[in-house]
Amino acid sequence: MRSYIIEEPDIDLLLSHLSKYFSNTFKRISRYELIRFAVFIHRIPAKDPNTDFINLTTVVEYNPVGREAYLTLESSGTEAKEAKLAVEILGPANNNQWNYRRNDRTIQDCPHCKATYVYRIDISQQNVTTVVCHNCAREFQVTQIIK
Ligand SMILES: [Zn+2]
Repeated sequence: MRSYIIEEPDIDLLLSHLSKYFSNTFKRISRYELIRFAVFIHRIPAKDPNTDFINLTTVVEYNPVGREAYLTLESSGTEAKEAKLAVEILGPANNNQWNYRRNDRTIQDCPHCKATYVYRIDISQQNVTTVVCHNCAREFQVTQIIK
C-alpha cells in the first residue's frame, strides 16, 4: 500500500485519468458538500504463472479548502509492480508538476507499556527513528518499513 498527498491538483483531470485507465472493475465518484471522494478498482492480467490477475484499488479524497488530494493505492502485486503502478497513477501529477509526497503510516506498539501509536512515515528520514512514548515517557525505536 502507498499513500500520497498531492498539492493543488486539477482534481477533475486526476479523476478522469483514474476513470479512464484504472477502473475496469469498479468506479464510484461521489461528493459530500465540498469534498470529493472516489474509489477505483482495476484488474490487470498478471505475467505470472501463479496468479491470473493483479487487483488494484485506488482511493482519492479531495478537499478544495486545503487544496490537497489524499490518494492511496493498494495492489495484490509485488512491491516492484506496485511502485510501477504508482508512477502510472501519478502520471498527471508528474506531467503537470503538481507537488506530491508520500503519506504512509505505520502502527507500532511501545515495547515497554504496549501503548499503540500510528506514525506518518517520512521517507526522507533515516531507517530507524527514536521516539518518546507519551504514555510511559520511555524511548523506543520506530522502524522504517518503506522499501
Ligand atoms: Zn510506553
